[in-house]
Amino acid sequence: MNNKYELIYEGKAKKVFTHDDLDKVKIEFKDDATAFNALKKEKFEGKGKLNCLISSRIFEILIKSNIPTHFVQLENENIMIAKKIRVIPLEIVLRNTAYGSLCKQTTIKPGTSLSKPLIDIYLKNDELNDPLITKDRIELMNVLSSHDLELIINLTLKINVILKSFFENIQLKLVDFKLEFGYDTRNNILLADEISPDNCRLWDLSQNNDTILSLDKDRFRNDLGGLIEAYSEILRRINNFLKTN
Ligand code: UDP
Repeated sequence: MNNKYELIYEGKAKKVFTHDDLDKVKIEFKDDATAFNALKKEKFEGKGKLNCLISSRIFEILIKSNIPTHFVQLENENIMIAKKIRVIPLEIVLRNTAYGSLCKQTTIKPGTSLSKPLIDIYLKNDELNDPLITKDRIELMNVLSSHDLELIINLTLKINVILKSFFENIQLKLVDFKLEFGYDTRNNILLADEISPDNCRLWDLSQNNDTILSLDKDRFRNDLGGLIEAYSEILRRINNFLKTN
């Protein structure tokens, strides 16, 4: 990044820099992958670029469906310009199919289709290991009003309808995903962060058998190999679909 721009924040997978316009930021996507609260770490050359491009395409799709997002435009293949936001310290996970922590913490079997989307909310706090949290605890901590929490939950359900059908078009099953939201300088709630195979579980539907083929960060979490190939395949399918639709 041009050293004219100041680093505001560095997370596990992204760096956020100032922009000439004070209402905007530049987000650089890194090649680092982390899992299990950063206990497991590895660099994958090209991952930052793939996630930046995939996220940008998905934000554009959501914006067309009137979802308010922080996305402004791509600056280059691994830098995105976004509106500056105040992050709401919650991770909103929506699940269509049971997998991951849901199956570790309950008796629900991996791969079970859920009759309706399940929303699990986690407190974004590395020191506390991002605990699963309740609406009452959120209210108690004054993280945000119950009105805004409902707004975020409804946006998440709407995003699920849009993305589930989009991914089905490209032979991918949207198992679950994690969203983050924030307030812009005018206090509007916007979808923020990224939407990529780092925070969505996507299973390949193009195989004609029942085995699960993960094209997402589970390739790294579960040492399956082929992470860059999987992410490249997702971007290829998205680009092909957008070219012809
Ligand atoms: N997820 C995420 N960041 C986290 C935890 C989860 O992006 O810190 C995403 C994850 O990629 C998956 C969904 O949220 O798409 C649900 O993850 P889960 O709670 O099953 O946790 P995991 O099995 O990853 O520990």
